[in-house]
Amino acid sequence: MTTEYRNLIDGEWTTTEEGADNRNPSDVSDVVGIAPRSDVAAVRAAIAAARSAARGWAASTPQQRFEVLDAAGSEVKARQAELGTLLAREEGKPIAEATAEVGRAAQLLKFFSGETLRQGGELHPSVRPGMEVEVTREPVGVVGVITPWNFPIAIPTWKIAPALAWGNAVVFKPAENTPGTAYELVQILQRAGLPDGVLNLVYGAGSVVGPALLDSPDVDAITFTGSTGVGRSVVAEAAAKGKRVQAEMGGKNPLVVVDDADLDRAVEIAANGAYFSTGQRCTASSRLIVTAGIHDRFVDALEQRMRGMRVGHALDEATVVGPVVDERQLEQDERYLRIAAEEGGDVRGGERVERDTEGYFLSPALVVGTDPGMTVNREEVFGPVASMIRVADYDEALAVANDTPFGLSSGICTTSLATAAHFKRHAEAGMVMVNAPTAGVDYHVPFGGRKGSSYGPKEQGAHAREFFTELKIAYTAP
Ligand code: NAD
Repeated sequence: MTTEYRNLIDGEWTTTEEGADNRNPSDVSDVVGIAPRSDVAAVRAAIAAARSAARGWAASTPQQRFEVLDAAGSEVKARQAELGTLLAREEGKPIAEATAEVGRAAQLLKFFSGETLRQGGELHPSVRPGMEVEVTREPVGVVGVITPWNFPIAIPTWKIAPALAWGNAVVFKPAENTPGTAYELVQILQRAGLPDGVLNLVYGAGSVVGPALLDSPDVDAITFTGSTGVGRSVVAEAAAKGKRVQAEMGGKNPLVVVDDADLDRAVEIAANGAYFSTGQRCTASSRLIVTAGIHDRFVDALEQRMRGMRVGHALDEATVVGPVVDERQLEQDERYLRIAAEEGGDVRGGERVERDTEGYFLSPALVVGTDPGMTVNREEVFGPVASMIRVADYDEALAVANDTPFGLSSGICTTSLATAAHFKRHAEAGMVMVNAPTAGVDYHVPFGGRKGSSYGPKEQGAHAREFFTELKIAYTAP
């Protein structure tokens, strides 16, 4: 079945003459839906709607916001299997992972429904006699939400839910590859009782919708997740226009395995971190930095585990590694593997795979014998590709782990408490994982990176308010 998605502008579902096909990467003959190709006028209309709805929503009661987010969370949870199937179909994430992501969206909506009721301020005695000082938080206003395709329901939810919880109006621009889950999420939130104009959805090309959001003086803040190149330009443009901006971007996440690690556990952690979600996670383990005493055994065991992973259609329950998202991404993965081989890496796996349906299937790849300066260790591939870096000892491993412009997630496998403690303290990353994959986080605590991976306040958890609210400091004299 092919669904016609529509923009949501001021409570009206609208479309454009021309549409963009949303194709299933596991089976390109399957057109999942058709999304509008919005022009600048549509974006402006959405911004105007958000602007005029913002004041009313900012004045809504915590109970009203609670009820919307709570009801939306309940509907997402109730429809978890159906929405998981849609997500797997449009993005290519294996069905179990896709369904789990929908469950995560429900958890996020429930978490932020609770946050609506925890929005107290501070009352300080003044340093001046009789005076009182109140510190309170107010909504930022209109927030532009720009999201990538790789977590098509979780990321929009972890931006839109806190924006609404703290009283902001939203213009949401989803990724071109994954319009379907965005459509369902917005319908669910609208049905849950949002006043018209509080949440607006505008489909279209990033190069059209993005600049229109950035240009408008009526957009107060931009929350972006996506590639480093686009993210940097979004940050620069938003800052030049005086907007608040938050950007979560690429990663080149290291997983360190030292001699004292539990080998089987380390291999499982690496396989999960590198290849689950087809390696298309900003937190994927793409550099496996392994000390000399365990290196060869680790490579043998990981290669065996990797070759046993079934590559196939995302809706096949037996699939472990789904297709990559589109032809362009497939070519990018292959290009990085070619460069890795040219620069001296020993590429194992990483071949196009034929299945019953025509899709973008690539077997997982392990590049053995790489050094830290090789292109495959410097740039984000964003596919099922990991490289092996052999190091002498833990000190060298830590130095190599930190030798990157990125700083999203960093992991270590060790049985030594002292080594784990040292790594937690010295890894230059926003998130550090001990004996756990670099990908895989909780929803009630902050999320985000450092260095070239991130800009601005962290997302998720109660800390999300740092971005979605402004502080006000009020003095009252006696
Ligand atoms: P992308 O940068 O191509 O696109 C992200 C979004 O930006 C899309 O909605 C796109 O339409 C929009 N966009 C494109 N051009 C724009 C412009 N000029 N102005 C404004 N918006 C524009 O990224 P992608 O391919 O969708 O996603 C993959 C990338 O996202 C990877 O680099 C991955 O690491 C990153 N990512 C990061 C995190 C994180 O939290 N750090 C999470 C998931 C994905």
